[in-house]
Amino acid sequence: PERGTPLLEVDCVSKVFGGLRAVDDVSFDMKAGEILGLIGPNGAGKSTLFNLLTGVASLTSGTVRFMGTRIETLAQRDIAALGVGRTFQHVQLRPQMSALENAAFGANLRGSAGVFAAMARADRAEEAQILRVAQDQLERVGLGHLADVEAGNLALGQQRVLEIARALAFDPALLLLDEPAAGLRHQEKQDLAALLSDLREQGLSILLVEHDMDFVMNLVDRLVVVDFGVKIAEGDPASVRANPRVIEAYLGG
Ligand code: ADP
Ligand code: MG
Repeated sequence: PERGTPLLEVDCVSKVFGGLRAVDDVSFDMKAGEILGLIGPNGAGKSTLFNLLTGVASLTSGTVRFMGTRIETLAQRDIAALGVGRTFQHVQLRPQMSALENAAFGANLRGSAGVFAAMARADRAEEAQILRVAQDQLERVGLGHLADVEAGNLALGQQRVLEIARALAFDPALLLLDEPAAGLRHQEKQDLAALLSDLREQGLSILLVEHDMDFVMNLVDRLVVVDFGVKIAEGDPASVRANPRVIEAYLGG
């Protein structure tokens, strides 16, 4: 999609668990080429919102459009196939498999017939192509030299970047990252921020959940703030940081 065109339109989205409105009538838009930060205290509904946007959980009400297509009722795999990639708050790698094999799981999810189908059909050419895509993505994020290392033996910062490589192997237009900097050391955070800026330069749009205000401030174009499921602020980082409701949510949370 061309930079600046509407990419994601989230309209009055809610998710109720029993009596809890985990996501409460949230609306926001994203334009292609943006890095949008989604911040808020623990339990604010950020991960739940990601799950609604990626078909991991079904929403109670509301609509979601991605590049003009309604996606809120689509299955996870179909949303991925349209070009929405994601990572999870807790690292979800297969620790005994190599970095390359982990990245290949992304490549195979993009279409309905992936690496599993290729293996089942003993389609060597397709399998090789998937591994090539996976290797390319490892190199894109700076992990090319670690392709053969078991994921469980990588540092946490490398594991998080590997998850990004796996998501990139879907060839997404929009990348949703759930707290990619959590638990990382200062230098790892700096490297991650540089990588995300590079990816944006390459045309990718990024929706980033982050708890660490300092990490997002220099990285994002815009911020959406949620608290108790409700959007309480939206705007450029400086104005959001100065917003009394945001300050209160963070001090209170
Ligand atoms: P955040 O990612 O902002 O920390 P979450 O989206 O994980 O917040 O959680 C928002 C709220 O929804 C929390 O109160 C959490 O306990 C609740 N919640 C999340 N997932 C479920 C679920 N599957 N069932 C019931 N409650 C849930
Ligand atoms: Mg979360």
